[in-house]
Parts: sequence; structure tokens; C-alpha cells
Amino acid sequence: MNILEETEYILKKYKVKANKNLGQNFLIDEQAIKDIVDGANIDSDDLVIEIGPGLGTLTSFLLEKAKKVICIELDKKMIKILNDRFIAYNNIELINADVLRIDLKEIIKQEKENNEIKNVKIVANLPYYITTPIIMKLIEDKLDVDSITVMIQKEVAQRLIEIPSGKNTGAITYTIFYYCEGKKIRDVEKTSFIPMPEVTSQVINLKPRKEPFVKVDNEKVFFNIIKSGFLQRRKTLLNALINSGVFLNKEEGILILKQIGLNENIRAENLRIEDYANLANLFFKKYSKKPENVV
Ligand code: SAM
Repeated sequence: MNILEETEYILKKYKVKANKNLGQNFLIDEQAIKDIVDGANIDSDDLVIEIGPGLGTLTSFLLEKAKKVICIELDKKMIKILNDRFIAYNNIELINADVLRIDLKEIIKQEKENNEIKNVKIVANLPYYITTPIIMKLIEDKLDVDSITVMIQKEVAQRLIEIPSGKNTGAITYTIFYYCEGKKIRDVEKTSFIPMPEVTSQVINLKPRKEPFVKVDNEKVFFNIIKSGFLQRRKTLLNALINSGVFLNKEEGILILKQIGLNENIRAENLRIEDYANLANLFFKKYSKKPENVV
């Protein structure tokens, strides 16, 4: 049986249909699965956390490589299928939960204490409807993980792994770059899934940095300035920051931008990450007695 036949067989056997509301697009392309697993670089003493295992297609490959696979799946029907399918395996744990509500930090801590785990790797074909919140949670929770390998919508992937100030830059580009090194593994066409999604996908690998890429005195100020700059991205950074109340007025804004060597006509997406760090650090020093202006 190939993967398409296997997927259709399981869906029929359990009388289930892909649930659109849960972003269920099942992968049926064996080469794409192998490339995800290779891209995740899994060792035999690794713990893999798989988000949204669905029918278990990717899971079955992960189980052959990793010491243990913990699957977090929201859909009870999938949990039942996974339970039956992997009954003979002793290196799988299924958790029926919403990944956005689960304490991954605690799970990882427990596993590292109890199971002689070397590294933790997150692997997922993510549901498109909550890609960004899931990735932001994985990054901002500062999890003790070695890498995050995910398949997501191509357009979003390009924004996440762009070098800040490159053509796909968005506010999130800076956040990812601050915390991680990102790289593309490969594109995956719509025809590699059933049902077929509306968009092309891309597999990316994010590796948390040991230290953030730039030194900032106050992360809240740094991220708030970036967010404020991008709220009105068709305007200049100067106007966006005046309108969002970061700069008190035009004179102050021009002066601050000048101090860090930036032209008053620059736009939010043209700054390097170092420029935002300089801006945030200068701002934090200037207003450190009343940072409520910027946080
Ligand atoms: N891994 C399978 C594959 O590659 O064929 C299925 C991937 S499918 C794109 C996304 C999976 O995420 C579905 O099984 C869906 O039920 C699950 N899911 C959706 N929202 C979730 C959430 N908040 N927490 C955990 N799993 C979720």
C-alpha cells in the first residue's frame, strides 16, 4: 500500500473525514515526509515532540528514528486512530490537547530528567489556521529545544526565515531572527496532501540561538517599537512611531533617528535588526524612568 492508499484506507475504516476547521490536510507524499525527517536531523537518543500528528503518517517515520515521540493532537478521533495504529510501539506518548494551552516547558523538563534524552526536536505539519500563534508560542516560551522543523504555508515561511530588511520582511521576521537561525528545507506542492490545501507549503527549520542576535536592554521596548513601526507599514517609520505614541512629536523622532544614523524617510521593513536594537536601547535609556511611553 502506498501512503495515499493507506490514508484513504484509515479514513474509510474509521469513517472519518478531514476536519477543515482543524486544518486537517494529510500528507501523502513519501519523499516530502522523508525530507522533513531528514531536515529535522533526528538522533536515536532524541525526544521528538510532534504537533498535530493526525492519522500518524509522519509519526510512523519519526518513531523509527527517535528515542521517544510525544504527539500532541487536539482531535479525539485522531487519538483513537493513533492509539490503535501504534499499539505495538513503546516509544510513543499521545496527548489529547490544544498545543496552545499545554505547558511544553514542563513536559520537556520532566522528559529530560527521567529519560536520558539528549536533545528535543519539534517536528510538525502544522494546521494553517494557527501557524503563527503556535510558532510564536514555541519561540517566546524559550523552550529548551534543539530545533523546530515545521511545514507551513509558503508565504508565511518566507517571512519567517527572511533576513531582516530583505524583501519578505514583516514584524515577525525580526522576532524569529532575534531568537533563531532559520533555513528552508523544501517546498511542498498542494498535490502532496489530501484534501488539497489552497496554498503551496514550505518546510523550514528554526534553530534557537544560544544568545539573541542583538543585545537589547529591554525586550518589551524592542518588540513594541518593531510592532508599532509595522502597524502602519505604508507610512514612514517616523510617522508610524509618532502615530502610535512612541515618539512624542516629529522633532523628537527626527532627532532620535538621526542619533542612530537613520534617515527620517526610512520605512519599518528597511531597518536592520541592529537598527531596531539601537533605537530601542537609546529609547530605553532616555525614558527608563518612565518606560510606560513605549511598553
Ligand atoms: N501530521 C499529519 C500529516 O502530516 O498528515 C496531519 C497534519 S494536519 C495539517 C494538522 C493536524 O493538527 C491535524 O491532525 C489537526 O487535528 C491538528 N490540530 C489542529 N489544531 C490543533 C491544536 N490546537 N493543537 C494540536 N493539534 C491540532
